[in-house]
Amino acid sequence: MESMSRKWLPVLAAVVIIGAILAGLAFARRSSPQAVEDDAAYEQARALMVEDGIVAWGVTDPAVIEAMGVVARHRFVPQDYLDQAYENHPLPIGYGQTISQPYIVALMTETLGLESGRKVLEIGTGSGYQAAVLAEVGADVYSIEIIVPLAEAAAERLAQLGYDDIQLRVGDGYYGWPEAAPFDAIIVTAAPDHVPQPLLEQLGVGGVMVIPIGPPGGYQELWRLRRLSEDKVESTNLGGVRFVPLVRQAEGGFPDE
Ligand code: SAH
Repeated sequence: MESMSRKWLPVLAAVVIIGAILAGLAFARRSSPQAVEDDAAYEQARALMVEDGIVAWGVTDPAVIEAMGVVARHRFVPQDYLDQAYENHPLPIGYGQTISQPYIVALMTETLGLESGRKVLEIGTGSGYQAAVLAEVGADVYSIEIIVPLAEAAAERLAQLGYDDIQLRVGDGYYGWPEAAPFDAIIVTAAPDHVPQPLLEQLGVGGVMVIPIGPPGGYQELWRLRRLSEDKVESTNLGGVRFVPLVRQAEGGFPDE
């Protein structure tokens, strides 16, 4: 017996050590920002993102700054990128698409000049993050996504987070959402090479559209278009940006109709 227990001692020690390592790893994982449930762990990172990447970069609208500080961006990024959720750059969301850089989301939202209750159309729901930011500034949000699984995931995620009033549709956003027009604001988060005429037509007088325009795959220019009257639109170039291309459906129309 004596020799038996001595023989098993190293095995026992190994089991204890491995067990301790595993327990340590489990604890580290639970207490690290990797844990999706632990929203509080991300609060500091989000506050830093707002200070260093939004306010320091020139965004001044208090409602936008507040919204950026409230929306849990880590809930919109894939598991593999959780550690970068509050870094100021775009991240992949699958299907070759990206969730936009936080600064660009804030800049575009600010450019719309929204007040509570304004009706906004977003083209390119993607993860749903921009839609959530728009909802947080009090807008009445309509959003269209062309990739079905992204649209479904965004719908589920937004519902889970309590953004119940955001209206979502699957389809080619080039055609806008005519039944809900006119809009006070239109935000296009994928880049076409020209302004889609249907979107321009759905922008109400006094309304603002923010849209990246340029060749697919390259750099584009971000434009602010403001409808001054039925036949007059003022355009302002906000500078160079990089967005995924606005893709088109061969036949147009909506696949869910
Ligand atoms: N606003 C998103 C990011 C957008 S990425 C967010 O906050 O996460 C651009 C999105 O536009 C992609 O999801 C892409 O599938 C979608 N898209 C591209 N062309 C489109 C079109 N014609 N109509 C609607 N959505 C389109």
